[in-house]
Amino acid sequence: MEEENRNGKMGLTPVVPREERLSNPQKTIAIIKKYDFAFRKRFGQNFLIDPHVLDRIVEAAGVTKEDFVLEIGPGIGTLTQYLAEAAHNVVSIEIDRDLIPILQETLAPYDNTAVISGDVLKTDLPAVIAQYGGGRPVKVVANLPYYITTPILMTLLENKIPAESITVMVQKEVADRMQAGPGTKDYGALSLTVQYYTHPHIEANVPPNCFMPRPKVGSAVISLDILTEPPVDVPDPKGFIKMIRAAFGQRRKTLVNAVANSAETPYTKEDVAAALRAVGYSESVRGEALTLEQFAEVARVLQSKAV
Ligand code: SAM
Repeated sequence: MEEENRNGKMGLTPVVPREERLSNPQKTIAIIKKYDFAFRKRFGQNFLIDPHVLDRIVEAAGVTKEDFVLEIGPGIGTLTQYLAEAAHNVVSIEIDRDLIPILQETLAPYDNTAVISGDVLKTDLPAVIAQYGGGRPVKVVANLPYYITTPILMTLLENKIPAESITVMVQKEVADRMQAGPGTKDYGALSLTVQYYTHPHIEANVPPNCFMPRPKVGSAVISLDILTEPPVDVPDPKGFIKMIRAAFGQRRKTLVNAVANSAETPYTKEDVAAALRAVGYSESVRGEALTLEQFAEVARVLQSKAV
């Protein structure tokens, strides 16, 4: 049976033919009219209407019939339909209650989907994975609401959900920040945090005309392969991420001032200055000049004192 559910691209019969899916703009318009649905800007609602982009996301995520997919923000179910064709099963978390009856209709042909009505930031994701994942490899896939991209990614990464990868559509500028290295304008706390937990790679740039309504910004699909071992060693990883955030909270300040002024970190100016001296860096260095490993060197000194 499962074989028959596979994506048409693999030469097997799809559950719903591509032209009948919501990636056909006429189908999206029809369902929106039928339910008199009003797009909510505050929920970052820009629905995909381009089949090539949807194929690209599924391909970038490497979804197979072995996988459990956790989707954030299914909207009317456009990406969900593509994921359901490719995956073993899909669970999608949607905040907008008005979309739930629509999803019941658009996902009705797929017996391998489930929708959870709620805010992803308030959902116990490990519990959802335990309930629906069936011990399968977990892949997170989403066309993210742009207003909360960073909080969602931080929740996924810092809570160490047992996923292999996270493949998301984000604002192009945010994708660039995730991949950036030291000394560039895009380099910051997001780059370092993402690179501490994952290997990020941009898979595609996506123009506004692939969405309905069109966003004002360009978008990109980025895959984050979750690392099994962190690339640098620190005694307290959560404290390390807090230190990084503090370092870029006041970007124009030196590392000493930015970290000492932050309420998130327990260190004084003297602590940070002494740690920098101990590893041979200038006391006037700014966070934006340091690599992940150099941040880790400083953190190791600071954290070994704290314990
Ligand atoms: N996946 C659909 C697609 O690709 O066409 C819709 C993507 S749209 C950019 C983002 C979706 O996330 C919307 O459906 C929105 O209602 C939902 N959303 C926004 N904030 C959310 C939150 N905190 N938790 C769960 N879903 C959220």
